[in-house]
Amino acid sequence: MNKKLPFALLATALLFAAARAPAEKTPEQPQQQTAAETAAVDYSDAPEGKLPEGVHPLAYRLDLLLDPRQASFDGSVAIDIRLDESTDHIWLHGKNLTVEKIHAQRKGGQTVAASYRQVLDSGVAVIAFAESLPAGDFTLHIDYSAAFDRNLAGLFKVEEQGNAYALAKSESIQARKYLPGFDEPGLKAPFSISLTVPEGYAAISNGPELAREPAGAGLEKVTFATTPPMPTYLLSLSVGPFDMVERPAIPPNKYRREAIPLRGFARHGRGEDMHYILDITPKMVETFETQLQRPYPFKKLDIIAAPQWPSGATELSAAITYREQRILVGDNPAPGTRLALVEVHAHEIAHMWFGNQVTPPWWDDLWLKEGFATWGEPLALTIMEPEGGHDLNATTSAISAMQLDSLASTRAIREPVTNNNTIRNAYDAITYSKSLGVINMVDGYFGAERFRPALGRYLETFSGGKADSPSFYRVIGEETNTPELTKTFRSFVEQKGVPQLDLALECADSGRAKLRVHQSRYKPLGSPIADARQQWNIPFCYKSDTGVQQCQMLTQADTTLNVLGETCPGWIMPNVQGSGYYRWNLPTAQWQALVKRFGQFAPTEQLSIIDSAFAAFEAGKLSDTLLLEVVRQSAGAGKRQVITMPLRYLRKYRNNYLDQAQRSALLQFVRNLYLPLLNSSADSRDADRQILHSTLLSFMALVAEDPQARRQLLDKARAFTGFQVPRDPQALDSDLYTAALTVAVQDAGGAFLTHLVNLRGALDDPRFENASANAIGSSDSPRQVETIHKLALSEDMGPREAFGLIQYAMAQPRVQAQHWAWLQQNFEQVVDKIPAQIRRRTPAFANTFCDRKHLGELQQLFAKQGHLTPGYERSLAQTEERIALCMALREQGRSLMEALPGAEGKAADSPS
Ligand SMILES: [Zn+2]
Repeated sequence: MNKKLPFALLATALLFAAARAPAEKTPEQPQQQTAAETAAVDYSDAPEGKLPEGVHPLAYRLDLLLDPRQASFDGSVAIDIRLDESTDHIWLHGKNLTVEKIHAQRKGGQTVAASYRQVLDSGVAVIAFAESLPAGDFTLHIDYSAAFDRNLAGLFKVEEQGNAYALAKSESIQARKYLPGFDEPGLKAPFSISLTVPEGYAAISNGPELAREPAGAGLEKVTFATTPPMPTYLLSLSVGPFDMVERPAIPPNKYRREAIPLRGFARHGRGEDMHYILDITPKMVETFETQLQRPYPFKKLDIIAAPQWPSGATELSAAITYREQRILVGDNPAPGTRLALVEVHAHEIAHMWFGNQVTPPWWDDLWLKEGFATWGEPLALTIMEPEGGHDLNATTSAISAMQLDSLASTRAIREPVTNNNTIRNAYDAITYSKSLGVINMVDGYFGAERFRPALGRYLETFSGGKADSPSFYRVIGEETNTPELTKTFRSFVEQKGVPQLDLALECADSGRAKLRVHQSRYKPLGSPIADARQQWNIPFCYKSDTGVQQCQMLTQADTTLNVLGETCPGWIMPNVQGSGYYRWNLPTAQWQALVKRFGQFAPTEQLSIIDSAFAAFEAGKLSDTLLLEVVRQSAGAGKRQVITMPLRYLRKYRNNYLDQAQRSALLQFVRNLYLPLLNSSADSRDADRQILHSTLLSFMALVAEDPQARRQLLDKARAFTGFQVPRDPQALDSDLYTAALTVAVQDAGGAFLTHLVNLRGALDDPRFENASANAIGSSDSPRQVETIHKLALSEDMGPREAFGLIQYAMAQPRVQAQHWAWLQQNFEQVVDKIPAQIRRRTPAFANTFCDRKHLGELQQLFAKQGHLTPGYERSLAQTEERIALCMALREQGRSLMEALPGAEGKAADSPS
């Protein structure tokens, strides 16, 4: 094994830095070359998306020296491949690797000289051979080294409390930063992995540990069992002085003969904080096994709490890895923290089947793993905690996707992905939450008893392999024998946008009634969505006061239903159980009849009413007085999710649509509405009421600017942080960290900021570190702005925290201009600081603007510097559109505020 100096690695990285420039593609002498001449390759053939067909990885044998105390790592990989046709070169992946030696080996053992070269900056490389290889099987042998990444991408190292840890985060295409190979989800192969690590360090990978033997110089070699075929994005390589918590194995059951060893890993000293997640894991695994009627597909299960993990969690096969603050919660987590934990855990466990056992071959089918894993959350949690409100959380989540799906610049769930730089765009609310809504709609309309066995059959059919959407539709279609079911899926998965149903109930003198339904694509005021006659196959169900519940598949632009029964309904509710992924609108009188009975509807239906009311208002089709009535009614509802659904709209309107005169009227309206609820939910023993209380307290303090709520949070923050009073670690639970610290940063005086920064260094509490970064960003003092900018780019702020800090900073109206100027001037440093996987989202920093001048500046910034954030185009388009819609809605918002009781200059007639 060769030790490379970091200097040499840097030089290599620089050499490749400009690789996207066309000049880089012109043929020249390959950079790393063995003694023999190898074939000349036309670099302009380098694939920007999928690798060319015809080369199949069959098995990997990976042997690495991973010492997190060093700056770099090295090792070797042998890859068995099969060539469909004779060739003198193959394309594969590798990024910023230094290849020391490379050759190919024929089955008989003779070697063929080869050279390696990275051609594209996205990590597309080529291996050229000294002679043409015939079709058949070969082995590639590659010795290489690379630096540990410092931006949490690929094989990265982090230091916490004086210890260094090495971790691999590969999804989507970052395995290529530590492994020359075939870094595509469909190219699955078994991995035999051995890691040489410092003596006594934990080493975790996808297979169970088979052996550990001394390797000299204070090192040990750890060998893992060969995995089933797996894609590179699911590789786990974790090394460091982790605490290991061993649990009894998950016992065998009806679906599985072998017990599953269960272990938890947290960084040194934090193993005790993993009990909660480990306690619930066996039940959760068994719940999915029962629901899917399929055994857990791996030989062990490790749960890893990883410091600074760039995603909330990642479903690495048999080694699920979480950002540590998501799961290091101690034995008695705050209720909101606990809810987030069980949700993310259900999601990741669901992935063991959806994605890991059956893998989408390419990123355009991401929904087949992410949509189904998101759907797995309420599926498992409703069984484990029937009273937990998980069905409401699912409906809320689907509705939240409609926000994004209302933009012209939204995506379809399934859209072609042709360039490596745009892969990460698929990780959005459309893939996760819209898919959840669509799957729920299909499951509800066609029946779980029909849909779920078909789903089990799909997993069984493709177990261990891969499946794309057409394969999914085929199996589901065959199993359910219901062509409408697959048609429904396709019409929602392949088309973007939210269906809008405009309904009108017409009653004849005889009492017989008709319901006219028109479908179109929802568009808010100012939307650039063209009036294309877009149509879906919509499973539509309504109910009425006459006891009628009627369902029909809507397949036309216009449908007229003969309402069942002899009498004309007094009202209709156009989305039974709120399970349809659509919005609806009614004539005013029918809205009024519905809103009057708001309290009688199921909570999921109440959510649909609130969403459709706001949607109609923002499309200019619902009066402000009706909207305010819906908001009033929602505040009197029984369920937290219903009460809190309007809050994000009220926040938006307060920030963007108000002049000073109307501001106080809005704040008064909001206080009158929510203060009684805030008080009645205080000191509740019920976990959900506690979450409601925290949500309302944060809202009242930060949005409604209620002095009492701010005082309460300020006192908590001062006590918790020990600012000018003795420190009380029990004074603040983690659900209120961000809100309380934000209030303190804004109200406690300038000295608090310094105090907070010092405390971040002293406390070992990742949730606190994260929340305090957001709070620091929320300072509204112009005098602190410079300090905050220095902090954002300093070593005191992790990459992820810096991103949060800047996001919060840009949402502070008083200092937004200063932050924006700084961001434009220091764009390169900011990009360099934040995690590689979210750089393409930097345009969204400007989401809080609502004017033409800033829109222009945003466009200029990315015209000049967008090349620093590859794949930014989607985020830029969405941000531009949000700003434009905000401007269009301003006038509408003004009229809303004028309708408020007590508002000055109340308009005589409100437009409707
Ligand atoms: Zn996921």
